[in-house]
Amino acid sequence: MNEAMKMTGFGADVFGAEAIKEYLPKETAKKLQGTIEKGEPLDPSIAGEVAHAMKHWAMDRGATHFTHWFLPMTGATAEKHDSFLEVKNGEPIMAFSGKNLIVGEPDASSFPSGGIRSTFEARGYTAWDPTSPAFIKRHGNGATLCIPTAFCAYTGEALDKKTPLLRSMQALERSVKRLMKLFALPDAHVGCTLGAEQEYFLVDKKLWEKRPDLVLTGRTLFGAASAKGQQLEDHYFGTIPTRVLDFMHDVEEELWRLGIPAKTRHNEVAPAQFELAPQFEELNLACDHNMLVMDALRTVAEKHGLKCLLHEKPFAGVNGSGKHNNWSVSYGGKNLLDPGTNPQENAIFLTMLCAIIEAVDRHADLLRASVAGAGNDHRLGANEAPPAVISIYLGDQLEDVIARIERGGAGKAAGRARARTAAPAALRIGVDTLPPLPKDATDRNRTSPFAFTGNKFEFRAPGSSVCCAGPMTVLNTIVAESVDRIAEALEKSGTTGKAKPGEHTEAFHAALQSILQDTLTVHKRVVFNGNGYEPDWLREAARRGLPNAPTSVQALEALSKKENAALFAKYGVFSARELASRHEIFLEEFVGKVRIEGACARDIASEMILPAVKEEYLKTAEALERATNVGVTSGTPALSEDLVELGTGLDALKSEIRELDAALDDNEAERILAGMIALRKTADALEHHVADAKWPLPKYRDMLFLY
Ligand code: ADP
Ligand code: MG
Repeated sequence: MNEAMKMTGFGADVFGAEAIKEYLPKETAKKLQGTIEKGEPLDPSIAGEVAHAMKHWAMDRGATHFTHWFLPMTGATAEKHDSFLEVKNGEPIMAFSGKNLIVGEPDASSFPSGGIRSTFEARGYTAWDPTSPAFIKRHGNGATLCIPTAFCAYTGEALDKKTPLLRSMQALERSVKRLMKLFALPDAHVGCTLGAEQEYFLVDKKLWEKRPDLVLTGRTLFGAASAKGQQLEDHYFGTIPTRVLDFMHDVEEELWRLGIPAKTRHNEVAPAQFELAPQFEELNLACDHNMLVMDALRTVAEKHGLKCLLHEKPFAGVNGSGKHNNWSVSYGGKNLLDPGTNPQENAIFLTMLCAIIEAVDRHADLLRASVAGAGNDHRLGANEAPPAVISIYLGDQLEDVIARIERGGAGKAAGRARARTAAPAALRIGVDTLPPLPKDATDRNRTSPFAFTGNKFEFRAPGSSVCCAGPMTVLNTIVAESVDRIAEALEKSGTTGKAKPGEHTEAFHAALQSILQDTLTVHKRVVFNGNGYEPDWLREAARRGLPNAPTSVQALEALSKKENAALFAKYGVFSARELASRHEIFLEEFVGKVRIEGACARDIASEMILPAVKEEYLKTAEALERATNVGVTSGTPALSEDLVELGTGLDALKSEIRELDAALDDNEAERILAGMIALRKTADALEHHVADAKWPLPKYRDMLFLY
């Protein structure tokens, strides 16, 4: 254990390399490490020994229970705890077998399955994913050993988010290996990496408790804008309030114990909004870790009298929260999205780049669907987050590079054309070296949903509450397809297999050049370097034929397209039935959330806001009556005016509540959403007409400033 690990307790609660070495015999430890590193299935002959070691390790750390920890379709995490304790012949023993470790059988009939599993065949099983290490979750005085698992139906169909993610990683691995072989590189490990930047809001718990909308839906359904919002931009990267800093410190301590490298913390754009970014890790692990990050943010906040809001849009009128997914692919430990320093490395980078451009253009609809959700609908395109149109930002230099590739690598011919037109030189793959790409400058455009940031792509459309596995599964699959397509074209060119390892022939480069050129001609329409917030962009995007699905329901239609089902089936990521089940689950979740919000808005309006307005109305009416009775005229015009305003508001409120109620009865999501907007507009205006002390909900100005 190194000094930094000792100091921070980094990984102290993870059954990782250290613990494996300490608790397992050398031979078994080696086998297990091999499984973990190569992502191979566990050798069943060592399962018993591994379980035994894990139990002792966990019990030494105070654990009494174990659970298979998984990512069901609810988007949260699930656990069913079993105690180590068993009674055998009247004697208590602490038992945990190899079978306990490898498979579990939660009777999980209440998890959404989208029709895959009916309750009469309710059994599902969880299977250990050794590539994500077991860890200990602490709570009060207790502790539980958590074993990350995949969750499937007995038919083998995935009921969770991890299984398809692992399948998509395999698909990408196969494609990338195929391509690298054509580049005459020796076989090596293909890795996907993810760094998930997590945005969140903090509010005082006492105020949160008084807001049924925050309690039930995670966002405010009412609330007039605070006089001060984010206009001054004085919160962004500002001094972190002490109370929040204490909270962040405790979060980091917990994350470090779990081996999660929380790296940066800062204030975000909106008041009371913050961000936590971990160092990137292997994708599957990073997804699990992000779930634990969200967990830690929520639980630690409680201890500080705070509530952590992970909703995409907790407050109207100020920025919402996203989760930037920084993603990359490596081969033999080398990042393939690093442009490199010589023509050979550049060639691989440019091939991957073109594959990604093709993938995103071909399947923008799927990427959009992967970030659909009731919460994100309020964020995407709301002039702070990327629009719902998926495009790629490359930065000026790289855009110039692809323009030069497209201009053609036909060597002399291109040279002659250049002489005539004085256009910048064509870039010849395998010959010319890329200009150095500044990392910082590439990151300035915050308006793009999918941006190249120096040596990785940053998918910025995912909402703050999303499980990264969904969007990452789609990204891996679509890139696997385009990498495959390019590999196939290269194979057909008949120029491969003629070079020594690590070298490539001229013919190969010429073939590659022409393939990439064609790819760019077809797919460069998805590249957009401009301001994604400009309304002009939406018109331009429509002209380019890029899909735009502003709402989740529209976005999710992508999951019902035949060609998309075929894609996922081809790469073994989702069967047609699994994909259909997901479409159903996401739609149900969307409608379910909208219904809860609608009912909550109706209840708050009728039980809290309406009575407060009536009271103010009554007080005003009484004052007016008394003044009139005693024959005073000063003040009566103001009172009459107020009374009319309150009365008009009251009438509007009443009829809007009635409309929302009817929409709920008819179960029409669109109408419920529209009803909520109308109701909110009236209620927020009335907030300024009722005495502050009598307003029944904590206001934006109370909640948004934490000092
Ligand atoms: P930003 O300007 O967006 O803050 P950073 O360089 O700080 O950019 O990186 C943001 C995130 O991207 C971090 O989580 C970082 O670990 C992650 N990241 C960096 N390199 C990679 C990579 N090769 N693959 C995946 N994520 C990466
Ligand atoms: Mg970022």
